[in-house]
Amino acid sequence: MKHDDNCIFCKIVTGDIPASIVYEDDDVIAFTDIGQVTKGHTLLIPKDHQPDIYDLQPETAAKLFGMAPKIANAIKSALSPAGMNLVNNNGKAASQSVFHFHLHFIPRYGSSDGFQPTWEDNSSSYSAEDLKNMAESISKRI
Ligand code: 5GP
Ligand code: ZN
Repeated sequence: MKHDDNCIFCKIVTGDIPASIVYEDDDVIAFTDIGQVTKGHTLLIPKDHQPDIYDLQPETAAKLFGMAPKIANAIKSALSPAGMNLVNNNGKAASQSVFHFHLHFIPRYGSSDGFQPTWEDNSSSYSAEDLKNMAESISKRI
């Protein structure tokens, strides 16, 4: 199990920093986010220190994402939100501030509940040819 002494989430895993635990097993741990963007905002992380989606091991991802529906349903059952956003930030440019992979569960209660995803439609900037070329470029690297 990789551990980074300077990582706040590794400290939560070891119990050196307190957290309100929602779920824990050998591989993952879920706890309420101290920031509470909306009521019930929860984080699910691997216990192993893996910084972001690029480093996330497929076996770890399988265990972590395998728990996601259970966490989401428990939050839904406990708090009856109108909806739920799952968010994962990778890199400073994408607003990642803790460099230990984490999946945010953000229960939604309405358009002014504190979480504001912005989503522009830029489809007019890309032709069908552009989409095909991008798909090919990405596909051949998998
Ligand atoms: P990021 O910006 O990296 O996607 O999200 C990091 C999240 O970790 C933030 O939502 C922040 O509120 C949360 N966080 C940072 N430090 C702590 C902590 O010590 N305890 C808990 N429970 N959450 C934390
Ligand atoms: Zn860590």
